[in-house]
Amino acid sequence: MTPDEAMGRALELAADAAGWGDTPIGAVVLGPDGAVLAEAANERERDGDPTAHAEVLALRAAARVHGDGWRLTGCTLVVTLEPCTMCAGAAVLSRVGRVVYGAADPKAGAAGSLWDVVRDRRLNHRPQVQAGVREEECATLLRAFFRARRGL
Ligand SMILES: [Zn+2]
Repeated sequence: MTPDEAMGRALELAADAAGWGDTPIGAVVLGPDGAVLAEAANERERDGDPTAHAEVLALRAAARVHGDGWRLTGCTLVVTLEPCTMCAGAAVLSRVGRVVYGAADPKAGAAGSLWDVVRDRRLNHRPQVQAGVREEECATLLRAFFRARRGL
């Protein structure tokens, strides 16, 4: 699956999250061969868990099925919104080779917007970053969610 196709799946997962009241964010982890290892949506509200971001859930699930212990070397994390500091940190710690995201998050993004945790030269592992993949679709989904919530 290409990052673009994986983003399509992440968008579906994000829409699911909106359905149960969570901010619509979805994530997919691709193995080195491009096969889907794991996918997840934001479950922070649903689980009452401050760390249940889509990226963390997807990385955990991917490590369970990938053959190299906790390491996700050569894998790609695809997520609809730029990762926060926690998720950017999790991406670095999991050793993914690449982080692909859709919409930038100027208020909390840690992959180039507010911080750049994933490419911080002080860290010994730095995933590549590909930003802006299907950005408009990702941003539109988030905007619609917040607009609807304000309208309630
Ligand atoms: Zn996060």
